Amino acid sequence: MRADLHSHSTASDGTCEPAEVMSRARRAGLDVIALTDHDTVAGHGPAAAALPPGLTLVPGMELSCRLDGHSLHLLGYLFDPAEPQLAAECAAIRSSRIDRARAMVARLEDLGAPVTWEQVTRIAGDGVVGRPHIARALAESGVVASPADAFGPEWIGAGGRAHVPRYALEPVRAITLVRGAGGVTVLAHPRAASRGWVVSDEAIARLASAGLTGIEVDHPDHDHEKREHLRALAAALGLVASGGSDDHGQLTGYRIGCDTISPENYQQLIAQATGAAPVSHRMA
Ligand SMILES: [Zn+2]
Ligand SMILES: [Zn+2]
Repeated sequence: MRADLHSHSTASDGTCEPAEVMSRARRAGLDVIALTDHDTVAGHGPAAAALPPGLTLVPGMELSCRLDGHSLHLLGYLFDPAEPQLAAECAAIRSSRIDRARAMVARLEDLGAPVTWEQVTRIAGDGVVGRPHIARALAESGVVASPADAFGPEWIGAGGRAHVPRYALEPVRAITLVRGAGGVTVLAHPRAASRGWVVSDEAIARLASAGLTGIEVDHPDHDHEKREHLRALAAALGLVASGGSDDHGQLTGYRIGCDTISPENYQQLIAQATGAAPVSHRMA
């Protein structure tokens, strides 16, 4: 059984429609795929409707959090999406994302970069507007060679000239909210150094005592050494070692299924959730 517990669609900053993410997951030989768009559950309906036979969908979300001034991502799974407190916080994060994106585009304009809000929203399409869309606009306008180059101090990287921080949840509160909605939480890519900082072992231990269920060990941004360290840390703290591709379609080179969670750990993780159930293909 192969399960990838981290993927994005056009409901946030992925480049593939939710239905396309499902068909790509099946073609990649997966039995289970979690759709974990940033701060939204909007992709779950279209994904469930398009499930190919043999594929199970784990409804999830990647929540934007902030710890000690740094951005931190928390994956939530199998929570009740109608739970009012969690739904309200996600709506607040989504609307602040738009205000923040607008502010960054304004700063870029002040810096003389030829990007416009119309261009950024066109690139975002139906998705929640975010930095990846601004990065693509900067590349499209020839300001940077590739979208990845936009994430440096020159432009929209953390602390960059056109960077604007936004509303995010304190992670302990996010863990409590997801648990309150019957879900389980996994700390996303804690050692992805490309993001400018890493979550310390001490911070992970604090989150574990606050009710965190697992940590993402197998992730494309973690090398072998980091994975071994995190696997041992998870075992020591009683956390589930999870894994996923963090596929964003074209943006990440169509890597769905490149990292997975073991079948035993998957069962252990979902057994603790009560807010929703994994969705399987049903004959009409
Ligand atoms: Zn993330
Ligand atoms: Zn992600």
